Amino acid sequence: MNKLSVKTARDETSIGQTASVNGWVRTRRDSKAGFSFIEINDGSSQGNIQIVAPGELANYESEIKKLSAGCSITVEGQIKESGGRGQATEIAATKVHVWGWADPEEYPLQKKRHSFEKLRQWAHLRPRTNTFGAVARVRNCICNSIHQFYQEQGFLYVNTPVITASDCEGAGEMFQVTTMNLEQIAKQELEKLNYRFDFFDRPSFLTVSGQLEAETYACALGKVYTFGPTFRAENSNTSRHLAEFWMVEPEVAFAELSDNMDLAEAFLKRIFADALQKCPDDMAFFNERIDESHTLLENMTNIVDSDFVRLPYIEAVEILESCGQKFEYPVSWGTDLQSEHERFLTEEHFKKPVILFDYPRSIKPFYMYCNDDEKTVRAMDVLVPGVGEIIGGSQREHRLDVLTGRMAEQELDIDHYWWYTDLRKYGTVPHAGFGLGLERAVQFVTGMGNIRDVIPFPRTPGNVDF
Ligand code: ATP
Ligand code: MN
Repeated sequence: MNKLSVKTARDETSIGQTASVNGWVRTRRDSKAGFSFIEINDGSSQGNIQIVAPGELANYESEIKKLSAGCSITVEGQIKESGGRGQATEIAATKVHVWGWADPEEYPLQKKRHSFEKLRQWAHLRPRTNTFGAVARVRNCICNSIHQFYQEQGFLYVNTPVITASDCEGAGEMFQVTTMNLEQIAKQELEKLNYRFDFFDRPSFLTVSGQLEAETYACALGKVYTFGPTFRAENSNTSRHLAEFWMVEPEVAFAELSDNMDLAEAFLKRIFADALQKCPDDMAFFNERIDESHTLLENMTNIVDSDFVRLPYIEAVEILESCGQKFEYPVSWGTDLQSEHERFLTEEHFKKPVILFDYPRSIKPFYMYCNDDEKTVRAMDVLVPGVGEIIGGSQREHRLDVLTGRMAEQELDIDHYWWYTDLRKYGTVPHAGFGLGLERAVQFVTGMGNIRDVIPFPRTPGNVDF
C-alpha cells in the first residue's frame, strides 16, 4: 500500500488514493452517529490530517474509542475531499493499527497549553507540539539554505576541529577537555597536575570558533565555510546565549571588509527569503501565534527587499549619545556596545538591519585588520531587530609585523600561534570572514523570544539533561 506523509495526504492531488499514513494522535472525538474523528500529525507539516474511523472497524470499541493524545497509529484508507473547514482532505479509514498507547493521566502534552519554560522540562516530547515542530522544520530549512548558498557561490565546506588549544576570541570563556582524573588530582598535591600527562600534553579546550583554521583553508582554496558546533562557557543567563551553539563561518581570500559586508547581507537575505518561500505554513503560524504584533512576515519581506544600513561605530556612538534615550550602560567612544544600544539602533532608530563597522581596536580580538587611524579595526557586526547582534566578523590582519605587534599588545604567546603567523609569512593576502550564530538566525526568522527554544537540547549553565 502507498505510504503517504501527513503533508502529502493533506494535498488535494492525493484525493482518491488508497494509502497508509503514520502519526501520533493529537485529538479524538466521537460522533453520536457511531464513528470517530481522529487528528494525527507526523511532523511533516504544520497541519494534521483528519481520520474518519467508522464504528464497523473490528477494533472500534476495544481500541479506537480509547485513543488519546500521544498514541502512535497507522491508518489505512482512502483519501477523500473533506467536508470540514480548514482542510482539503481527510482519510476514510478501513484499518487503524495502534502501535503505542499514551496514558492520558500521565502524558504531559494534553490539550492544555503549556508555557515554553514548562516545555523545556520535556525537551524529549516538545517536538510533538505545533511550535517546536515548526521550529525544527524552519531550522532545517535554514541549514539547507546555508549549504546551498555557499555551494552555489563556489565555497568549499571545510570541517574545523572541535578540540583546540587556542582561544580565538581571547575571552577565555572555554570548556577544558582533559582525560586527567580530576577527583584523583584533587586528593593529591597541586604540583602533580602536570599537563605532560594529559591526552594532548597541554591544556586543551572545546573551540569557541573555527575561524583561525578556516583562514588557513581560505588562504589555499580561496573561499571556504565551516559550519559546526561551538562552545562558550559564558555564565550569562540571557535569552541570546547558549553554552553550545552552531556557527557558520565563511572565509574569503583576496577580500576586504566591504566584500565581507556584501556577502553577509546577501547571505542573510537568502536564508530569510528561503524560509518565507519554503515554509509558508510554519511562517504563517509564527506570524499569528508567536509574534505579538503579527508583523513578522511583513518585516521579513521588507528586509529581503531593502538595503541594510552600513554605519561606522563612531557614528553609532554619536547617535546613541544624542538620542535622548536613557540607557542602563552609558556610551562613549571606546566602550563596547551593549545589547540595549544595538537594539535601539536597529529597532528604534533605523528600524532595519544595521551593519556597524570600524570598532575601537582595544575592544576587539588580535586578528582584526588595523586601520590607518591606529585607533580602529576593520570589524563588523550585523544587528537585526528583535535579536541584536546576529553576525560578527572582520577583515583579518594579514601583515605579519602588525599582527605580531597586536599579539604582543594582548599578551598572547606568539610561539603558540606559529602556524597562524606562517600564513602571513608565506604568500599573505587580505582576507575576511564572519560568524553567524545559527540559533540567533532561527530566533530572528521564527520570532521565538528565547534561544533555548530554537535548539533541540539547549546547553546553558546547570542544564545538561537529555
Ligand atoms: P555577544 O556579544 O552577543 O555575546 P559575541 O560578540 O561574543 O556575541 P562573536 O564572537 O562575534 O559573538 O560570534 C559570532 C556570532 O556567534 C555572534 O554574532 C552570535 O550570532 C553568535 N554567538 C556568539 N556567542 C553566542 C552564544 N553564547 N550563544 C549563541 N550564539 C552566540
Ligand atoms: Mn561579536
